[in-house]
Amino acid sequence: MSDTVTIKFPTGESYKQPTGIFINNEFRPAQSGETSDVINPSTEEVITKVSKGNSKDVDDAVNAADEAFHEWSQTEPYQRSLLLLKLADLIERDQDIIAKIDSLNNGKALKWAKTDVGLLIRSLRSTAGAYDKINGRTIDTSNDYLTYTKREPLGVCGQVIPWNFPILMWGWKIAPAVITGNTVVLKPASATPLSALYTSQLVKEAGFPPGVINTLIGSGRDAGDHMLRHPKIRKTAFTGSTEIGREILISSGESNLKKISVELGGKSPNIVFNDVESKIDQVVDSLIFGIFYNNGEVCCAGSRIYVQSGIYDKIVSKLVEKTKSLKIGDPFDKDVFHGSQAIKSQFDTVLDYIEKGKKEGAKILVGGERIGKKGYFIQPTIFETDNEDYSVVKEEIFGPVATISKFTTVDEVIQKANDSEFGLASGLHTNDLNVALEVSNRLQAGTVWVNTFNDLQESTPFGGYKQSGFGREMGTEVFDNYTQVKSVRIKFDHKNALTEGKV
Ligand code: NAP
Ligand code: MG
Repeated sequence: MSDTVTIKFPTGESYKQPTGIFINNEFRPAQSGETSDVINPSTEEVITKVSKGNSKDVDDAVNAADEAFHEWSQTEPYQRSLLLLKLADLIERDQDIIAKIDSLNNGKALKWAKTDVGLLIRSLRSTAGAYDKINGRTIDTSNDYLTYTKREPLGVCGQVIPWNFPILMWGWKIAPAVITGNTVVLKPASATPLSALYTSQLVKEAGFPPGVINTLIGSGRDAGDHMLRHPKIRKTAFTGSTEIGREILISSGESNLKKISVELGGKSPNIVFNDVESKIDQVVDSLIFGIFYNNGEVCCAGSRIYVQSGIYDKIVSKLVEKTKSLKIGDPFDKDVFHGSQAIKSQFDTVLDYIEKGKKEGAKILVGGERIGKKGYFIQPTIFETDNEDYSVVKEEIFGPVATISKFTTVDEVIQKANDSEFGLASGLHTNDLNVALEVSNRLQAGTVWVNTFNDLQESTPFGGYKQSGFGREMGTEVFDNYTQVKSVRIKFDHKNALTEGKV
């Protein structure tokens, strides 16, 4: 199989797509010669074949990263920063192609794919700019000692990402790892490898030494599992399902106790208080963005909407009206808000949840059906129910499905909002600063958005409470994932310093 193919976007332009595994700055076929199909989820047609790596390819990638580590970890942080800045520039140069690749391969509306690439560029530059701020401390332990700490890299990082933000998560994972002196083997989701492979060639063009950043294509259960049990991998970073998150903790325990960070999704509450009547359109737009942005395939999506009784009817009627007006369809149509779901299994899961919700007794206010017969399109759907035990309220659906219900008091809504094993994000809408602060303090979530939602920002840490995971992406907190602290304690010899004639 040739290691690049020409792919044509629905908009007419073509580009060259690498299809091999990226090791030591070169693309190569899988050692077994195996390939897998990459599907366009909005047409269900095969876009291309890519190499499918197995344990032998994992070993090669890990060995390359391990060899590169010795020099990379000693490279001056300033030089590492320059390479990351150069990579950001190259991604900016090719941003149109990269966004289109993610729309083609993931089904997301092109406008959201462009937002992802914009966030990625900002995030790479923010991380590059942190190179001289990842410091240790000097600790005053009396004049008898000089005591200080320094942050050192861990070694080779094995990173595994899902299919909902293919290129953004690639950047969120590799940048903090390499700026701190680690090397990386990253495995994209099997369904969405194209943007990571395309961008890997920019890694070489930027001038990163061979082996610092490697992109492995292969199945999670096979190549992914082998990688995360590999004795030369010292750190695992994973974003995906709670089920696989648990397995990854076990694989670390059963291998060499790799340091772990995991981001495992959520069931985030989005709360509306009575006092927002004067800006009801703005609030409804935020609720819609909260759940239907990126086809609802967002780990922090505001999928549980709680509205105070005084404004409930008005919010419901506007929300239904605006949801009906969202344009759904071809991701490359510039007016489309909502494209297709990314993968068949997730599409089926979402439709199953919709049927389950109907059977349980939740009332469909809008949506609830598949659209068309080709492509994984689902109507944006809102269920009304006050039964907090229904599966559509309790479980992560990971698609364009929200529930809405009424509440009266702050205590009542806090109890409902926190009654979840997830704790990734939360949102609230109010004009009252006292309510905003009180509720923010009491919500059990890694992020609280007030009068906004899904408002990710590159210098703001993001990650979970409870079973939504641990470790943070972005902000300076992300560097805790990729460094270990060394304490150095130097005993000071008074007598020697005071000996006459010595100095
Ligand atoms: P998943 O199985 O957790 O997949 C995520 C990534 O992990 C993929 O790259 C996958 O590879 C890999 N993987 C799977 N098993 C592995 C293993 N044993 N060892 C190492 N890596 C492994 O997620 P999914 O099945 O695609 O989606 C299922 C559910 O996950 C969704 O319904 C949603 O609830 C949740 N999810 C959460 C997020 C998030 O942002 N937190 C994102 C996506 C999905 P393959 O692609 O080859 O399987
Ligand atoms: Mg899976």
